[in-house]
Amino acid sequence: MEDFKSVLCPYCGQAFDIELDVTAGQDQVFVVDCETCCRPVQCHVAFDESGDCICEIREDI
Ligand SMILES: [Zn+2]
Repeated sequence: MEDFKSVLCPYCGQAFDIELDVTAGQDQVFVVDCETCCRPVQCHVAFDESGDCICEIREDI
């Protein structure tokens, strides 16, 4: 099962959707490119027991 989460780009502040793979583990770190400014954004995604997603966004330096 896949899901999407809306996040804010740390560079340009625009919202974009990241694709979540809920089968890839409870705790995931990956890098996506912002759809607006195309800069790399590091996403730290965790799922709690009820399946809710907690997403932290950082600049990928
Ligand atoms: Zn951006």
